[in-house]
Amino acid sequence: MWSFETDAEFQQKLDWMAAFVRDEIEPLDYLFPKDETYNVNNRALMAILAPLKVRVREAGLWACHLPPEMGGGGWGQLKLALMNEILGRSFFAPTVFGTAAPDTGNAEILAHFGTDEQKAKYLQPLLDGDIVSCFSMTEPQAGADPKMFTCTATRQGNGWVLQGEKWFASNARWAEFLIVMVVSDPEVSVYRGASMFLVPTKTLGVEFLRNSGMAFEEAEHGAHAYLRFNDVKLSDADLLGEPGDAFKIAQTRLGGGRVHHAMRTVGLARRAFESICERVQSRTTQGDVLARKQMVQADIADLWMEIEQFRLLVMQTAWKIDKYNDYKVVRQDIAAAKVLSERVMVSVASRAIHLHGALGISNEMPFGEWLLWGHALGLADGPSEVHQITVAKEALGVVAPTENLFPTEHIPSGVQRIRAKYANELKLPGHRRGWLEQ
Ligand SMILES: Cc1cc2nc3c(=O)[nH]c(=O)nc-3n(C[C@H](O)[C@H](O)[C@H](O)COP(=O)(O)OP(=O)(O)OC[C@H]3O[C@@H](n4cnc5c(N)ncnc54)[C@H](O)[C@@H]3O)c2cc1C
Repeated sequence: MWSFETDAEFQQKLDWMAAFVRDEIEPLDYLFPKDETYNVNNRALMAILAPLKVRVREAGLWACHLPPEMGGGGWGQLKLALMNEILGRSFFAPTVFGTAAPDTGNAEILAHFGTDEQKAKYLQPLLDGDIVSCFSMTEPQAGADPKMFTCTATRQGNGWVLQGEKWFASNARWAEFLIVMVVSDPEVSVYRGASMFLVPTKTLGVEFLRNSGMAFEEAEHGAHAYLRFNDVKLSDADLLGEPGDAFKIAQTRLGGGRVHHAMRTVGLARRAFESICERVQSRTTQGDVLARKQMVQADIADLWMEIEQFRLLVMQTAWKIDKYNDYKVVRQDIAAAKVLSERVMVSVASRAIHLHGALGISNEMPFGEWLLWGHALGLADGPSEVHQITVAKEALGVVAPTENLFPTEHIPSGVQRIRAKYANELKLPGHRRGWLEQ
């Protein structure tokens, strides 16, 4: 059965969320830069967020990505998509609703693979929103190709010693702990020889070389850490899962993480689109509002179609995750949604800049930041090209090569096949296609 309807009871919750995000959370963008959302040391921000979080809990909407046994609403991915597109309108909303990446993905893998002790120490405070965490995989010399990772964990006695560097570790500066993905067995393929460790950020030997920011952010105010591990001593109790399990574990978090980013991107793209529509109906040039210029209308139409196509793919992907409960089965859809997140956000933010003129490109509007965020979506969790490869491989995987000289759609070959099948019938009058009959 196919349906595009939202039941009335759930729609009420969505309406509450939409009003709450618009009235209470979107204005926070005027007070704090977006990466501050993770800064648990910012007392002013925390004082503002705390009562908002209470209202979300009272509304029964805290951590809406989680099942009830972990303190969430158990809405499933399709309803989550509808919720996340509301939360995506503001960089602060996911924190207020307990659904901020990378904490969501980190909680997911702790829940799946953590020991009871690890869950008590890290998972519960993470789910309660009392701490933030960091997932650290990328290295300065290697991002998209894990075969080039050199950061290692080496067995020493009963423990492990961590040595090497990590790069662009988001929120490490505010994180209580890092989930670090390192090579633990260099003798085998990295896909079987990498492990994950839970490393409290204050552990002796964890060095912050610097915190990089995104373009436009002031030096030293960034949230993406360049880390060095100087003989950091760890024990087996710090291992997440078994040695060699890192990629298996990573897939659990990355699949969900990517599609949740896509859901939120629908929301931000729609917000940018609304700004465009408002502006072109308000601004007059050459005797008429911009909205009546046909080239502007073409832009509006194209953007609307881009966003709606993207949204439908995201919704269908969410529906498939609910149905199959296995990210592997939905990997093509997730990869496609990931690629489109960048494209759609870049496209709509670029047009928002352009159609607002000088105002659009100025620092008095948010579009420059949104454009950069669009590009970030094409890098974080892997560059778009890598995901395009996944989409293509899956598409090619279901189509076999032909054993014939000519392709299946070759018309003369098709005529031969169908004529052989209906040889008797075609002797009767009425067959008019003379082409290639002889
Ligand atoms: C906002 C943001 C937050 C991030 N947060 C984290 C984090 O918390 N933890 C973490 O570990 N990492 C994080 N990253 C890093 C991110 O995972 C990497 O940037 C990404 O994996 C790409 O690696 P790279 O930057 O080294 O680029 P490279 O691997 O050097 O790739 C550069 C470019 O080369 C091209 N390319 C690469 N591979 C291929 C290919 N196979 N085929 C064709 N072209 C290719 C692409 O154009 C790509 O953009 C974050 C990145 C961003 C932008």
